[in-house]
Amino acid sequence: MAGVDLPFACDCGKLRGTLLSVSPTNGTRIECYCHDCRATELYAGQPDPAPGGVQLYQTVPDRVRFDAGEDQLAVFSLSDTGLLRWQVRCCGAILFNTARKPKIAFASFRTDRLADDSPLGPVKARAFVRKANGKRGHEGALKFMAGFIGRALPRFLTGRWKQTPFFTADGRPVRDIHVVPEAERAALYPAAN
Ligand SMILES: [Zn+2]
Ligand SMILES: [Zn+2]
Repeated sequence: MAGVDLPFACDCGKLRGTLLSVSPTNGTRIECYCHDCRATELYAGQPDPAPGGVQLYQTVPDRVRFDAGEDQLAVFSLSDTGLLRWQVRCCGAILFNTARKPKIAFASFRTDRLADDSPLGPVKARAFVRKANGKRGHEGALKFMAGFIGRALPRFLTGRWKQTPFFTADGRPVRDIHVVPEAERAALYPAAN
């Protein structure tokens, strides 16, 4: 499906880019209620999303283009093995999550930064959402996994994973990863419940 190209920008407008070929079937719109996504927002000085979820559209790196202000891009992670959280230095906005290795081709975009989010279609999955019984679970997990595998696997097999603005040709992130120190990290999570 062809989809449409959607411009995006960080909150102050210094970094601008385009999500390419956006459609409800070319990506998956999700809400994530996990502690890591919330901690990411808090660490970046963004408003606390809880009790709501973080709004994401999962697409692929070869459909992400930076058009201006790419020098503002920075990356951090909440642990040595956690997802890469791509942020801008200018205003702190979180823009993307990616895997640590480019061969796993996904890029989850924080959709709050779109002027018009209607081309993304409806939310198809909710991750780590709190259920009526108080436990956390997933809604729409099959749709999410089908979309993820359906996009990442052919890219892995064809080498299209190499088309990415997030990694260099030798597979390293284009910025040095800042791993949040344990002492700072603990304050970003709710006490065990
Ligand atoms: Zn999450
Ligand atoms: Zn900015």
